[in-house]
Amino acid sequence: MNIKHNNSIGCTVNECKFHDKTEGYCTLEKIQVTKHETMAKTKQCTDCGSFERE
Ligand code: SF4
Repeated sequence: MNIKHNNSIGCTVNECKFHDKTEGYCTLEKIQVTKHETMAKTKQCTDCGSFERE
């Protein structure tokens, strides 16, 4: 894949259609980080809200 990635957004979720498959970055200009708990207490409570399955 030869899509220019965003050097400011590192990501290991290679199941996402926005992932740069070769280098571990996101290809979007901006992502939305979300939480799935009312009060986020650990990083496990947060998610990438821009994820889309391939
Ligand atoms: S949209 Fe989110 S999950 Fe998908 S590649 Fe970008 S940072 Fe990773």
